[in-house]
Amino acid sequence: MPPLGRMTTPERFWMKVAISDPQSCWFWRGAQLGKRAYGSFIESDGRRVAAHRYVYELAIGPIPDGLFVCHSCDERLCVNPRHLFLGTDLDNKRDMWAKGRIPHGDRHWNSRLTDEMVAEIRTSTERNCDLALRFGVARATISNARRGITRSRLSVPALPKSRGWARRSVPLQETA
Ligand SMILES: [Zn+2]
Repeated sequence: MPPLGRMTTPERFWMKVAISDPQSCWFWRGAQLGKRAYGSFIESDGRRVAAHRYVYELAIGPIPDGLFVCHSCDERLCVNPRHLFLGTDLDNKRDMWAKGRIPHGDRHWNSRLTDEMVAEIRTSTERNCDLALRFGVARATISNARRGITRSRLSVPALPKSRGWARRSVPLQETA
């Protein structure tokens, strides 16, 4: 291994990644960015960037303005390029803002998702990432709603977290 100072930027990057088999998550082991807990990486020019965005550009290509790099695996610290895709649901989100379906100002998730929205999230086959964009909330909010961490009294059952949930649809149930 070359000394740190002689490493290329990509070499410095991969040093901080726990690479496993090609299909699994490759977890970032370096610093993390803020509360949202994405990997944090310092570019060659000194800029701090999100590790999953850096690896997307390294392995796949430039990120067009206004698009997000999303995780199909829902693991924010994963930097396996196979698990990354560009979020393209922004227009939909803007549309929802315009219609006033997303309240402004309050960051607490309870005030941002109505029971109807939670029911829709629980029956949706969309990915957390896409739903987060659509409803204009953090992905953790979607994930919590889905797993029933909040709003457990709703008649739509929460989903257990498992692979493949995104392809299943959940029937609505009556409450007892
Ligand atoms: Zn992953």
